[in-house]
Amino acid sequence: MELSGLQIFKYLPGAKKTEHANCKKCGFPTCMTFALKLAKNTTNMELCPHMNDELKSLLIQNSKVAQKEVRLGVEHKTIIGGENVMFRHDKTFINPTALVVALDTDENDFNQALKRVLDFEITRISQTYKVDGVLLKGSKITDELRKMIEQKGVSTVTKEEIKAFNIFEIKEKSFSHTVEKLVSTRRKAVIKKEENSSNPVMIYFEKQENLLELASRAGFFICKYANLLIFENFDEALFSTLMTLRQNIFTDPQKSLQVEAKIYEFNNPDENSMIFLTTNFALTYFAVANELETLSIPSYLIVTPSEGMSVLTAWSAEKFTAQLVAKTIEKFELKQKVNTRKIIIPGLLAHMREEIQEEVGDFEVIVGTNEAYLIKDFVKSL
Ligand code: SF4
Repeated sequence: MELSGLQIFKYLPGAKKTEHANCKKCGFPTCMTFALKLAKNTTNMELCPHMNDELKSLLIQNSKVAQKEVRLGVEHKTIIGGENVMFRHDKTFINPTALVVALDTDENDFNQALKRVLDFEITRISQTYKVDGVLLKGSKITDELRKMIEQKGVSTVTKEEIKAFNIFEIKEKSFSHTVEKLVSTRRKAVIKKEENSSNPVMIYFEKQENLLELASRAGFFICKYANLLIFENFDEALFSTLMTLRQNIFTDPQKSLQVEAKIYEFNNPDENSMIFLTTNFALTYFAVANELETLSIPSYLIVTPSEGMSVLTAWSAEKFTAQLVAKTIEKFELKQKVNTRKIIIPGLLAHMREEIQEEVGDFEVIVGTNEAYLIKDFVKSL
């Protein structure tokens, strides 16, 4: 388990208020600063001459690699493993569970099946996903075939390569058995740092009829704790479902989801359409976008580059300022695009209305609603 700065600090003289507390011999002003640096791996434990043996052995254990990383494919583009926490909120998960389709080159419909896999992609919250890889089986595996597949952004792998990488396969005997194995293997890797549990883990799903059950099982294994899932089935709905779930699990909880900062259009707007404005925090964007989509009138939504922060957070962190609004309007050449000269800002930023008004000159700034679901009534009242 990764040690936090606070956990390290508890063992140092500064926390125990004993002799040498905050003595600065390590080069840092306090034991707490040193502990925080150690937790981030930006300093060396040897610098403190007063560290007890218990902390030393904890730090040595902590520095071991929890789970190894493996790069799949000829171009090594699909990375699995490398995880070092049990729970996403402990820090973050690193490499999303790879979703791979097994295809037999000797099957008559191989080319059609391959095309279907290669053509598949989904875009969700500004991220585009394809199937991570194809496990090639049969007698017609060639370098040309692998090159062609990898050029389309999908890795290729063979059974022999998986074996050579020492990827640990859990054979599905029953759901509970697989879950128990997945959890105990991750626990041994992350908490006990056991060398023989440090390889990435995979599950191979043989062809099956019940896709709902397959989606449920595979979804669970994405959450806990498969690094690689290989399917004999390929189905667009199945993969869309799993990729959507996976995106939610493997986002970094320390970084908010964001959408591209630009002007979004709803219901074919023209130069006289309404203009709304918000930040690029994904949840804010989707809440507003859903409402604008369902309005019976066309509109524009200007999304500012606010580092994925929600409206009030962005304002308090100075990532949403009147100057930024003016710059965004200028960057997207809004004046040239539309005749409309009114911009509706989020109600939560009502206190900024005059400030924004001064910066955007030609546009009249109107204060909108605090909540996205009230936009419809607000528009009617205008
Ligand atoms: Fe604390 Fe050790 Fe640094 Fe002294 S040398 S300040 S005891 S961490």
